[in-house]
Amino acid sequence: MRWTDNHCHLGYGKDAAPIDEVLAAARAVGVERFVNVGTDLATTLRAVEVAEQHRGVWATAGLHPHDAKEGLGGLEDLLTHPKVVAVGECGLDFYYDNSPREEQCQVFATQIGWAHTHDLPLVIHSRDAWDDTFAILDSEGVPERTVFHCFTGGPSEAERGLERGAHLSFSGIVTFQSATDLQAAAALTPLDRLLIETDSPYLAPVPHRGKPNQPAFVALVGEAVAAVQNRPVEEVADATWATTENFYGLRS
Ligand SMILES: [Zn+2]
Repeated sequence: MRWTDNHCHLGYGKDAAPIDEVLAAARAVGVERFVNVGTDLATTLRAVEVAEQHRGVWATAGLHPHDAKEGLGGLEDLLTHPKVVAVGECGLDFYYDNSPREEQCQVFATQIGWAHTHDLPLVIHSRDAWDDTFAILDSEGVPERTVFHCFTGGPSEAERGLERGAHLSFSGIVTFQSATDLQAAAALTPLDRLLIETDSPYLAPVPHRGKPNQPAFVALVGEAVAAVQNRPVEEVADATWATTENFYGLRS
């Protein structure tokens, strides 16, 4: 089986292991492709550099809602880099409110516009902000390729995303025994609209919960999805590989 981790943050965290080692550990268990996500200008520049240096690694360019107050300067220029495959992660986080909501909404709208202008996928982070997230998407127009990363909603939010043509990306949370609503959402998501991720170094899946996460663990997410969909793991591995390749346009 081969797997893609469609959302990780390589090198994040002060005790991060060397990226070479992290990638080697992942490849050893069949995780061969990595979308390394930027969250502001500095991390995007670093993500592009890592993508240039390692096979099977791509980058995204975007401003996280936590950092909305930093402004978007310099980011749009990076969207034309050949290793940059998406805009984001961007969106709204009304749980932490690390940036004023008005600025979060503005920079989210601008980045949706970039996805349209540059014909790139949009990677959305949404926490405690479903109504505003959908409202801004509807007013700016939902990009043809849109993913809700680390999707944390239940069946009704899943339906709201799917009916807009979006993809849903499931993280290690789907392995948590208490996450029954999220598991119900994963059960109803068609495999051609479903991606898996680690969001490492955050949100390690069971049985690594509470420890630093790494792309090598993405198969545990795939296994949890297979369990709730009552399918063989191989089918989920094949489907998520192909869905992710098509979504981002990954080529070798
Ligand atoms: Zn992330």
